[in-house]
Amino acid sequence: MGCGIFGAINYENQHVFPYVYWGLRAQNHRGHQSHGFLTFNDNQFYVYRHLDLVPRVKTKALNEWFGRLPGSVGIGNVRYTTSGKVDDASIVEGTQPVVAESEGVRLALSFNGNIVNTSALKKEIDKYFSGFVYHCDSDIVCYKMLLALKENKDLVGAARVVMESLDGAFSVTGITGEGDFFAFKDSHGIKPLCAGHDPEGKTFAFSSESVSLDMNSFVRDFELNAGELVTVSKEGFKRIQIIENPRRAFCAFEYAYFARPDSRFNGKYVYEIREDFGRNLVKEFDGVVGAADVVMSVPETGDDSAMGIHDESGLRWERASRRHRYVTERAFILLNAERYSTIDKKINILGSKFAGKRVIVVDDSVVRGDTTKVIVEKLRKAGASKVYIFVTFPRIIGPCFYGIDMSSYGELIGSRYTAEEIAKLIGADGVCYQSIEGLVSASGQSKDELCLACVNGEYPTPCAQRVADLMKKRFDAGYKENGRIYESEDAVP
Ligand code: SF4
Repeated sequence: MGCGIFGAINYENQHVFPYVYWGLRAQNHRGHQSHGFLTFNDNQFYVYRHLDLVPRVKTKALNEWFGRLPGSVGIGNVRYTTSGKVDDASIVEGTQPVVAESEGVRLALSFNGNIVNTSALKKEIDKYFSGFVYHCDSDIVCYKMLLALKENKDLVGAARVVMESLDGAFSVTGITGEGDFFAFKDSHGIKPLCAGHDPEGKTFAFSSESVSLDMNSFVRDFELNAGELVTVSKEGFKRIQIIENPRRAFCAFEYAYFARPDSRFNGKYVYEIREDFGRNLVKEFDGVVGAADVVMSVPETGDDSAMGIHDESGLRWERASRRHRYVTERAFILLNAERYSTIDKKINILGSKFAGKRVIVVDDSVVRGDTTKVIVEKLRKAGASKVYIFVTFPRIIGPCFYGIDMSSYGELIGSRYTAEEIAKLIGADGVCYQSIEGLVSASGQSKDELCLACVNGEYPTPCAQRVADLMKKRFDAGYKENGRIYESEDAVP
């Protein structure tokens, strides 16, 4: 699942609900289909889960919420589905945080990621928990961990079991039935997860993105290491490196698309990295830039890169494409039909500003190509003489197995066509992708610290690589994919 997670603990028995609430609201871009909160108080879990965006909570209604979600430790989640069914009823059932309980052992989790080897794990969990119903991957993570706790493992042992047996991406925060608070990351560190505290040192929090710490006026302390567990329990605060893995694989797509520009990873704000993407594009396509009249961004993920292009080349950034502030759905994570109509409602292009002009359009990615096509059509209609698409994320050639909703070869325009062919298909004069090397250098990380699987076909986890290779072979031979390839029963172990 593409998700945002947040959790907080207060050391002086104050309600943490407001922190979790603002932590999730700041991360609603990571999942708009559902949201949920869970707190722990007097030995009990209190849960509130609902569809849609995190709602507005009025300050004067806070007491009511404290009654509903009391406690000095809590976790929350915003979600969009990349596993399980996507009808409304299934989305409701898959809403997080999840709670699992068996013979007096209890566990609650909020999860961001996606698991690849689900079939085998489902069978194993089924064997131990009669009545287990799978809704989505978070159930697998939660029950697998519960099973380890039931076998008398402590948190360290249970997190180790999860890290060693699950193939995929997972950043998790949770609470045990004893009220112990914890968080961990898979051994490749594919999904982000950082930690911080309030200035008085009374509250400590975990968050997918640093922006949620900022919104709570917290100080950011550290990004969890790949394979690391952090616990806050009666025994105090501990950081435990469970698995040492020299190959890290932080999702490169976070930089181009997913994360908020004001979040920080590895010491750099995302907007700074996106500006560097723009500078790189100028260097890589100087001929196109030299012959253009204006640059336009697809708001808002293209904005910072347009700034970088303007900075590097002096080309005017014509801010005549504006986003509707209250249409909050992200086009990329919508279902197909919704996506096409929402882009039209969400972005307003002031066509007259581009009449007769040679325009560079900066976008974060071209996934299916449908939204880019709409933009090109609008500019053509307005009389733009040339339209070049500059794309900050390199050509996507394969699906993501780790929680970004591009889950089959067939849906990806880049898996079937070259940049030149895509330009023809969408009616543009050119599609200019940033190189993988450019993206890596702007990120400030090395290639071995990033996941680039969807652009280079090298999946960091073995099960994902096997399924990708098998399904690619089948796809090239004309096999028709049926939904998410990592959910194909005949391909996934
Ligand atoms: S495959 Fe692509 S989108 Fe998925 S985790 Fe890797 S870089 Fe991110």
